[in-house]
Amino acid sequence: MAALANQIAQLDLHLARFRRTGILNLINGQDVTGDQWFETRSPVDDSLIARVSLGAAETVDAAAKAAKAAFPAWAAMPGDQRKAILHRIADLIEARAEEIALCECWDTGQAWRFMSKAALRGAENFRFFADQAPGARDGQSLPSAEHWNVTSRHPIGPVGVITPWNTPFMLSTWKIAPALAAGCTVVHKPAELSPLTARLLAEICHEAGLPPGVLNLVNGMGEGAGKALTEHPDIKAIAFVGESQTGSMIMRQGAETLKRVHFELGGKNPVVVFDDADLDRALDAVVFMIYSLNGERCTSSSRLLVQESIAEAFHEKLIGRVQRLKIGHPLDPATEVGPLIDAGHLAKVQSYVAAGKAEGASLAAGGQRIGEKGCFIAPTLFTGATPQMRIAQEEVFGPFLTSLTFRDEAEALQIANGTSFGLAGYLWTNDVARAMRFSTALEAGMIWVNSENVRHLPTPFGGVKSSGIGRDGGDYSFDFYMETKNIAFAHGTHKIQRLGV
Ligand code: NAD
Repeated sequence: MAALANQIAQLDLHLARFRRTGILNLINGQDVTGDQWFETRSPVDDSLIARVSLGAAETVDAAAKAAKAAFPAWAAMPGDQRKAILHRIADLIEARAEEIALCECWDTGQAWRFMSKAALRGAENFRFFADQAPGARDGQSLPSAEHWNVTSRHPIGPVGVITPWNTPFMLSTWKIAPALAAGCTVVHKPAELSPLTARLLAEICHEAGLPPGVLNLVNGMGEGAGKALTEHPDIKAIAFVGESQTGSMIMRQGAETLKRVHFELGGKNPVVVFDDADLDRALDAVVFMIYSLNGERCTSSSRLLVQESIAEAFHEKLIGRVQRLKIGHPLDPATEVGPLIDAGHLAKVQSYVAAGKAEGASLAAGGQRIGEKGCFIAPTLFTGATPQMRIAQEEVFGPFLTSLTFRDEAEALQIANGTSFGLAGYLWTNDVARAMRFSTALEAGMIWVNSENVRHLPTPFGGVKSSGIGRDGGDYSFDFYMETKNIAFAHGTHKIQRLGV
C-alpha cells in the first residue's frame, strides 16, 4: 500500500501542470491551442486527468506546413548530427522514464510492472535508429556490362504518424524514431484516449534540440484531425497503427493524394501447443502473452490451440493461473492486470463474453466486471470453443483467451490459418522438423517457436492478410520512410540507337 500511495503522490506532481493548462498541441516548437477541447479520463476511476486541445483540419494544416518548411534542413543535416540529437532524446526519455510510466499507467490503465519497461524500450528505439541514421542513405552498387548503377535512399518528406492507445508511448517511438533518423519530418496524431505521453515525447524531443517543425503534435479525433492528416497534400506517407477497419478508411482517404501507407493492424494470433512441447514453459508463455498489458496488445496470443491428448491437464493448470492473476490499481507494483482503456472498450469485451456463452463455449474463468468504478474486468478464459465462433475469429483486444483443441498437425494448421488476420503466431513443440513445416505454412508475419514475443529491433515487424501492410524494424523502417533512387553512369561504350539520321 505504501508503494501505491507513493506512486500516486508522484503522479499528482507530474499532472499538476496539465490540470492547469490542459494538454496542448505543439506545432513548429510552439504550444498551440484553439477554442475547442476534449477530455482524457483515467480508466481507474473515471476521473478527469486533463482537458486536451482539440485539433481540427486547420491545426493539421498548420502542422503539415511546419513539417514541410522544416524538411529541407532536417533532411540535409549530416546523419551523425541527427544521430547525436536522437541519442539526446533517448537520454531524456531515460531520465524521465518514471514520469512517463506513471502518466501512461494512469491514462491507459496499463500495469506499472510493464509500463516502467515500456518507457525504457522507447529510449532503446531512439538509440537503435539513432545509430542507423548515418548509414540510412547508403545504397547498392549494381554494375552491368556498360553502366555502373548506384542506388541511394532519400527521406520521402513530411510524414504523418497515427498511433493507437495501447502502450502509446513505446509505439509512438517505434514510428517516430526511424522517421526522424531517416531525415523525415513528422506530424503525430496520437489516440484521443491516451494523449498524455505523446505530449511528454514532443516536449522531450524539443528539449533535446530537435529543431522546431521537425516533430509536430496534433491531438484530436480520428475522423477530424486523423482524416485531415491522411488527406493533406504535403504529407507524403502515413505510418498507422490501429484497427484493420481504420486502415481501410485511411487507404481510401489517402488515395486522392497517392499516400504511401504502412499499416500495423489487428490480430487474432494463435499459440499452438503440441503434446511434445515443454509444457511448463508453454503455459508461462500462454498466460503472459494474453494477460500481460491487459491483453490490449496487437501480438497477444488470443487463440490457444492445444493438442487433444494434453488439453485437459493443460486447461486445469491454465484455469488456476488465470484465477490467480492479480487485478488491481495499475500503479500498484504488484498488479498484473489493470482496467481496460475506457467504458466503451469494456462494453466491447463484455459483449464477447456474452457472445462466447451464446455460441456454446464454456466460460472457464472470469468474464465479470469488477467494481462499479473504472473499467475492470476479470481475466477471461473460454474453453471448448470451435473455430467459426466469433470469439475464435474476431479481435477482442482484452484479457480474453479462447481455447480450441486439435487432433494433429494438419488440423492445427487449418485452424491457425482460418481467420482473416495474420500478424503473429507462436508454436510450442520439441520436434524440429514439425517446427519447420508448421512455421513455413503458418500465415503470419512473425512467428516465435518455443518463445513468447521477444523483440529484436533489427528483425522485421508486421503482419499479413488483414493484419497489415509493410514491415518495421531495422532497415525495413527506412524502406518506408525513404525513396530509393537509382543512378546509371554509362561507361561511354554502349551503342545508342541512331534514329532520324
Ligand atoms: P483505432 O484504429 O480505432 O485508432 C487508431 C488511431 O487511428 C487513433 O489515433 C485514431 O484517432 C485514428 N483514427 C481513427 N479513425 C481515423 C480515420 N478515419 N482517419 C485517420 N485516423 C483515424 O485503433 P485503437 O482502438 O486506438 O487501437 C487498437 C487497435 O490497434 C487494435 O486493433 C490493435 O490490434 C491495433 N494495433 C496493432 C498493432 C500492430 O503492430 N499490428 C500494434 C498496436 C495496436
